[in-house]
Amino acid sequence: MKTYADFHRHSLNDRDAFWAEQAKRIDWHTPPQQVCDTSRPPFARWFVGGTTNLCHNAVDRHAAARPDDAALIWVSTEVGREIVYSFAQLHEEVQTMAAMLQAQGVGEGDRVLIYMPMIPEAAFAMLACARIGAIHSVVFGGFASVSLASRIDDAAPKLIVSADAGSRGGKVVPYKPLLDEAITLAAHKPERVLMVDRGLAPFTPVAGRDLDYAALRAQHAGAQVPVVWLESNRISYTLYTSGTTGKPKGVQRDVGGYAVALATSMDYVFGGKAGETYFSTSDIGWVVGHSYIVYGPLIAGMATLMYEGLPINPDAAIWWSLVEKYKVTVMFSAPTAVRVLKKHDPALLKRHDLSSLRALFLAGEPLDEPTGRWIAEALGVPIIDNYWQTETGWPLLTVAHHIPGVAPVPTRFGSPGVPMYGYDVQLLDEQTGEPLTEANQKGVLTIAHPLPPGCLQTVWGDDERFVRTYWSSVPGKQVYSTFDWGLRDEDGYTFILGRTDDVINVAGHRLGTREIEECISSHSAIAEVAVVGVADQLKGQVALAFVVLRDPAQASPALEAEVLKHVDGQLGAVARPARVHFVSLLPKTRSGKLLRRALQAVAEGRDPGDLTTLDDPTALAQVKTLLGHRSA
Ligand code: AMP
Repeated sequence: MKTYADFHRHSLNDRDAFWAEQAKRIDWHTPPQQVCDTSRPPFARWFVGGTTNLCHNAVDRHAAARPDDAALIWVSTEVGREIVYSFAQLHEEVQTMAAMLQAQGVGEGDRVLIYMPMIPEAAFAMLACARIGAIHSVVFGGFASVSLASRIDDAAPKLIVSADAGSRGGKVVPYKPLLDEAITLAAHKPERVLMVDRGLAPFTPVAGRDLDYAALRAQHAGAQVPVVWLESNRISYTLYTSGTTGKPKGVQRDVGGYAVALATSMDYVFGGKAGETYFSTSDIGWVVGHSYIVYGPLIAGMATLMYEGLPINPDAAIWWSLVEKYKVTVMFSAPTAVRVLKKHDPALLKRHDLSSLRALFLAGEPLDEPTGRWIAEALGVPIIDNYWQTETGWPLLTVAHHIPGVAPVPTRFGSPGVPMYGYDVQLLDEQTGEPLTEANQKGVLTIAHPLPPGCLQTVWGDDERFVRTYWSSVPGKQVYSTFDWGLRDEDGYTFILGRTDDVINVAGHRLGTREIEECISSHSAIAEVAVVGVADQLKGQVALAFVVLRDPAQASPALEAEVLKHVDGQLGAVARPARVHFVSLLPKTRSGKLLRRALQAVAEGRDPGDLTTLDDPTALAQVKTLLGHRSA
């Protein structure tokens, strides 16, 4: 048996041969002429000249071979419904939706923004776009009007697909008023809005703009819409993610590279087999939802379980009941969800037959050891931590256990694992840019050019921003920065030590503190604000806002509630800080730069480190007193 290290080396040293072999996993209409074009670093083009289609690979080829096998299993504990779509039925629904889009003039390269709850129509919409070469941009349903408006302006969609409402814990969450407000706020006006009316929240359609999905579905039922064969490097989708500035970045992905990367990971990393069921508890609004609710499992010919509901409703055994009922073999979730379940009766984990389950994959935030151990013991299957980002599209660090002829790397608690095949991962010294040669040194986790297939091509509409943001942060080197701190132990396991930028991670959700700050400072009572992420037992991190008021006398619990409501209304509850603290000044350097890391350290009760540049020490003293930290 080969060692994994050898296999990994081979994937880098014989890059083109390695990926040419993987490319055979998908159907190509025209085979690629070149595996990887690296002539214009840091850009990379994969499978140049090949034409293919994501929807064909996810749906059509399986519908032809195994039409009656389950493809999409939708379970909603919110509205009490379950529907199983076979590959043949999914094929039909997707074609119907594709016909609707085409009838509205949507074609290759047009953007379609999808703002939807976890309902099958959201997956149909994504696949329909992929089918006709339209570029989808899914915006997480938890975002509110201002977040949505900035994404509408950036993506400039021809059409938006949405629904009347989602539901959370039995409470209807209307989408339509937020969408209407977002369109009012946005400078770009979509021509059409395709509305799925679930009958949850009555709304008045906007005449001449809003279309009724049910009516159009009836009209286009049975439509046959051939797939559009796309050159591998055409754009499949954009997905917005937060960074250092307040303006979200549209992570842009290709077609062929993404399909190959997902197909490979479904086998080597997840060990998923056609005919089995994959269950990811994420949301289609996040990258995990794109890669491992919609595209990955379907490309692998698996049924994918799409769940609308809470993990604890009707009780904390709901996920396990689904594992039993649908014989889930591979499951994917986030550490926060496990921490939520951990608060409930452990007997709930023994109530169902979980013998089909082979592994649980956890990602999105650090997996703490107690949580990892608890769920490993409870389930009795391997718990596989995996680290990646919206930008990479598939795991960058993990332990791949399903590579034929390669000895599996054992898991190690606290570390997601080792670099995956195709990723030339380097830990670099932040100051010098030099590789860290000794074990257990903290550095910036970077990837050398070219990024493997499936990773972002660029930032939508802004190549310059792509280069400036991702490839220019390490001195003297053009390498991709993950903006995460990492450390490698003696055995080569990488540990993630948090972000190097102002991004925070709340319950596995990536949020930009700048975006939250911009929102809070737009409130008329606020003069200045700093938002930092602080450690939280349940959610990993929560956001805390420190606010300087225009009129300090206004500070009150009522104003705090008002500011939180302001964030809910503009960005969405997902971005709401845990607290808003009123202070008289923020910790800054003499030149006026906000000392966020010091603020964060003090808020977490840690030593803030070197404070020689701090202008006025009372700023941090205030925070200490406020939060009741005695020593920091
Ligand atoms: P997102 O783009 O929303 O997937 O967030 C990506 C970020 O989440 C990474 O850059 C990390 O900071 C964090 N992250 C994701 N997975 C892990 C993991 N397994 N362990 C530690 N941090 C993680």
